Amino acid sequence: MSVVKGWCPDAHRPMLSGDGLLVRIRPRLGRLTIKQVLELCEISLTHGNGAIDLTSRANIQIRGIRKTNYRKLLDRLATFDLLDKDSNTESRRNILTTPLWKSGDITDVLHSEISKCLSDLPNLPSKIGIALDTGLVPMLGTASADFRFEFNSSRVLMLRADGATHGRAIELDNAPEALIQMAKWFQESGGIQAGRMARHLVTKNLPKEWQSHPAQPQAKALKPGPAPSPHKGYFVGVPFGSLDAKAFTSLILQAKTTAIRCTPWRLILLEGVEEIDNAYDFITDPNDPILKVHACPGAPACSSATVETRAVARLLASKNLAGLHLSGCAKGCAHPHLSHTTLVGQNGAYNLVEGGHPWDQPSQQGLSASDLQKLLD
Ligand code: SF4
Repeated sequence: MSVVKGWCPDAHRPMLSGDGLLVRIRPRLGRLTIKQVLELCEISLTHGNGAIDLTSRANIQIRGIRKTNYRKLLDRLATFDLLDKDSNTESRRNILTTPLWKSGDITDVLHSEISKCLSDLPNLPSKIGIALDTGLVPMLGTASADFRFEFNSSRVLMLRADGATHGRAIELDNAPEALIQMAKWFQESGGIQAGRMARHLVTKNLPKEWQSHPAQPQAKALKPGPAPSPHKGYFVGVPFGSLDAKAFTSLILQAKTTAIRCTPWRLILLEGVEEIDNAYDFITDPNDPILKVHACPGAPACSSATVETRAVARLLASKNLAGLHLSGCAKGCAHPHLSHTTLVGQNGAYNLVEGGHPWDQPSQQGLSASDLQKLLD
């Protein structure tokens, strides 16, 4: 077993965290059948600590795996078709899919075609990803991806480099070829050093013919509640993207869903469900203030943290700030972006960053949890 200490774990390369090994699973098309979800919950309870994360790339992480259980876990993942044949295949399958796809539609077909060409892509940095944002209106614009398939406002299918305002018109048949060409351009023009496409485009111009069609505006953000028509399903919010395996199992069984779809926005779509009665640990109110709060696992789950994050975040959520981020350390894993208010753990206390990133200069340092309550009133 090769244990990764950085931030791109997968099932073949787990990461060692404060609460044990962390194993990431990449559901194909973001979808897990009821059998697969229940098995993941069971694996989490048997081999891990019962904590499951929903990531910002719509993946699932099982936390707290003991090293002695890791082999058994892999076997179980393989049995339920949740494991790629090797680490290389798995790391290339970094595909984010719009949750509003239907069996046999263009997104489904595109996913199948792009999956087949992944081994023909050049070697790219591990964070590089592909977005299949080919619903009626694109909605994955704020989610991490470098190569974006989407429609423009005239329903022209295009491939757009992240960071570019325009894309290249393509046909479904040549989508894999267009992706390979763009990936090779990225590699050959020095993109590997930049690490990500948007960063690369700050200093490099894309070929002009790849910028012929303007991207259309993004759809409104999805919220907890019924899926937009004509899709049949119900979105539930997952506070901080953190699921308890027992609570998740109860929700799945009670909702009588047939499958779930993961999203990059801490929302899960329960396929076929129209109403939810009791979703205790989940968010069904689209105005719940927790939806505006980001918080990483913090201490003790992460060995880099010296403060609690989520318990404090729940207390502060009622203050309804324009945007609140509790980060266990300056790395800012839960929300590596600017926030109205960011609280960063350092040496067992909190630093306050106003209108900045977790790694920016704080305006106040060494605050206790009770200081925060008063300060943010
Ligand atoms: S931001 Fe949070 S999860 Fe990320 S390394 Fe720091 S403490 Fe850990």
